[in-house]
Amino acid sequence: TAGLTTNAPHGRDDLLGGLLPAGMDRRSCRSWYESWRYYKYFPYAASPYLQRKLRAYEARHRRCAPGTPLYAKSLEQLRSGRSADGMECTYVVWLPFDGLGNRMLSMVSGFLYALLTERIFLAALPPDSADLFCEPFPGTTWRLPVDHDFPIKDLVPQGQHIDKSYTRLLDAKVVGPDANATAGVPAYVYLSMGWQLKDPLFFCGEHQLVLAKVNWLLLYSDLYFAQSLYAVAEFQDELRRLFPAKESVSHLLSRYLFHPTNPVWSLTTRYYRTYLASAKRRIGVQIRMFSYGSIPADDMYAQILSCSRQEHILPETDGGGGGASDNGVLATRSDDNGDGSNSTAILVASLYADYYERLRSRYYEHAAKGGETVAVFQPSHEERQATDNLAHNQRALAEIYLLSFSEELLISGRSTFGYVSSNLAGVRPTILLTAYGHKVPEPPCRRAVSMEPCNLTPPLGVECRGKPVDKEDLARHLRVCEDSNDSVKFF
Ligand code: GDP
Repeated sequence: TAGLTTNAPHGRDDLLGGLLPAGMDRRSCRSWYESWRYYKYFPYAASPYLQRKLRAYEARHRRCAPGTPLYAKSLEQLRSGRSADGMECTYVVWLPFDGLGNRMLSMVSGFLYALLTERIFLAALPPDSADLFCEPFPGTTWRLPVDHDFPIKDLVPQGQHIDKSYTRLLDAKVVGPDANATAGVPAYVYLSMGWQLKDPLFFCGEHQLVLAKVNWLLLYSDLYFAQSLYAVAEFQDELRRLFPAKESVSHLLSRYLFHPTNPVWSLTTRYYRTYLASAKRRIGVQIRMFSYGSIPADDMYAQILSCSRQEHILPETDGGGGGASDNGVLATRSDDNGDGSNSTAILVASLYADYYERLRSRYYEHAAKGGETVAVFQPSHEERQATDNLAHNQRALAEIYLLSFSEELLISGRSTFGYVSSNLAGVRPTILLTAYGHKVPEPPCRRAVSMEPCNLTPPLGVECRGKPVDKEDLARHLRVCEDSNDSVKFF
């Protein structure tokens, strides 16, 4: 099909070079076998070690998943109120928190933690997310059945201050070195790992030893925290073996874990084929405005253009008034043979129609330099976030994937929606800086050092075994994020 390319040998197959397991039913999850046709880059292959680890994980998941005797046993243990030693199956349960991008990032982080600790990763998917992702592990389920029999009532917390979160249980001497041994280890513990990071001690090896005794961990997070797992000495060697390139962690794990369901995949591929496939190159532009960094649309648009000029992203236009008689049209006739060989498609993702309309007018009223033909598209403008609505989330996911099929990405700072698109794409995006204090930032944007998402709340200043987390060791693989001074990312 026109516009579908593959660029690297290890990605040129429908199981992404051994990243994905065989055995998924083709009809029930089309994206599983088709996504490789749409991605433009395959910058990292899954190491043989990662492949073995994933296959072993999938086998363990099948043994321990809901519906198995071992799961029934673990559920019984949960009901008893205490954790038991030597349980074959232990769990990390992912709980929904914030929008889709945040959720995808915390899922990747939680799954990585499950891989490192040999736990089973289960997702408590709410109805608004029921039909977004295919089951990622063939022959089993990752859904936690939360029916009236489930022993924990009100499973999803109301806020980040959680009674049964690790640090609070530690302070209350319910867990940890000072806990009363005869009372036993509780059956479950919450990990309050959202942007307020109430449980930063999670990133200490000595606390991981305590958590290892808890059969059920409930992860409440909206963060990408894989970087901080490197701070745990006990995990470091394994992480190095799994991901020889640190920049590949979220890229590989998100391509592994996320496969849009058929309804989402239909939205995505229909749009792609209709508007994007025939272009020679696609530029994804994702515009998100947070209330703390809001600026007038004129200023935002000016920021986009000045960033684009700085980083050479969007096609420049001929200075003059444009119009049908200007050179661009003649040049188009000679350079572009009508087969899209000199054409650019700009895909805009935003809650608002504003930036799309301005960009579309720009290329309508002015010819692009060099005879390039430029078309601008926006699949939806939802006006407001509606995370509790499945159809809204399906459109959001389709747009995340459409962005991820771009050759180049211009995304908004501090937006996990853009982070996920870039790491699925395997692209180091250009990041528009946030207008803190409502002041247009200067420079307008920065080119990202890596495709890894930023951890917006790293455990800064946390002490493990009485000492600060080894800063030098962290510094070797971490950078301050382009878009957030007190946040870190891999490079
Ligand atoms: P973040 O808040 O930018 O970090 O990203 P999230 O994905 O966590 O939350 C934002 C939510 O708002 C998304 O999940 C969507 O529901 C909605 N949203 C934001 N931007 C867009 C967009 O460009 N397109 C669509 N369809 N929805 C968006």
